[in-house]
Amino acid sequence: MKLIERVRDMQAWADDVRAGGERIGFVPTMGYLHEGHLSLVRLAKGSSDRTVVSIFVNPIQFGPQEDYNRYPRDLDRDIGLLRDLGVDVTFAPSVGEMYPEGFCTYVDVEGLTEGLCGAYRPGHFRGVTTVVTKLFLAVKPHLAVFGRKDAQQAFVIRRMVRDLNMDVEVVVGPTVREVDGLAMSSRNTYLSPEERKQATVLYRALLRAKELMEGGERDTKVIVGEMEGIVREAPSARVEYIEIVDTEKLKPVPFVDGEVLVALAVWIGNTRLIDNMIVDARGDELNFQI
Ligand code: AMP
Repeated sequence: MKLIERVRDMQAWADDVRAGGERIGFVPTMGYLHEGHLSLVRLAKGSSDRTVVSIFVNPIQFGPQEDYNRYPRDLDRDIGLLRDLGVDVTFAPSVGEMYPEGFCTYVDVEGLTEGLCGAYRPGHFRGVTTVVTKLFLAVKPHLAVFGRKDAQQAFVIRRMVRDLNMDVEVVVGPTVREVDGLAMSSRNTYLSPEERKQATVLYRALLRAKELMEGGERDTKVIVGEMEGIVREAPSARVEYIEIVDTEKLKPVPFVDGEVLVALAVWIGNTRLIDNMIVDARGDELNFQI
């Protein structure tokens, strides 16, 4: 496996592979890899000839009070995991390589980025869409894989790819969970053992929403209220948002009468966790439709 740190070198590699008629599969990450990331790498490998994984903790998607500096990093360990999986290239540019002096061009998706996480993390999605665009221009992938765990991000990227006619097939893989249901996340390493136990309330709240819908409940106020009750069982938990939105505009719906995204962001102590589920009106979990 190759480690590439320069955009020019990445582009040259991609040009060679494309000239040979091979398909490039790409998984963008911020590193500190876990089984969730690795599941996306396997998906990418399954539908392409060559696989690239990027590892880049993107400063412009973090707010000034957020965890950019303490975000966990372990490039050597990540490289080992990717080598074992048979990845062809790890693309790990420096911040200066991605954002040289004078950088001032951004990609902004409107509307879809206003609610949910966007309401609490101003500028976050602009940072994400800008870096994903830059990574696409470096890696030149035929296919790029994202995780359903960050559902709003997946919706925003799907929109960006359509709106800007990017010639990239977007694939969204399912959320990989720990045995007790907690969605895997690099940020789970921030949790103390006690907080880790309490962190299961996010998934339990989602399961409760699903169960209520299966039982015929359609009123989103009732469902959200029940979810809040479950989150409140954890003494260290503070709800940032719990919302049920449509899967077109990501706007809250009063009643469930079709496919919806049930999404929540909860602080457990000083750690912000998110989770979600896409379900139909009967509470059956759905795949992300691209
Ligand atoms: P990150 O390194 O957190 O930026 O995540 C990189 C990619 O992995 C994103 O597309 C995430 O949605 C995805 N991802 C993160 N956690 C999970 C998980 N538990 N299951 C599946 N995909 C995930």
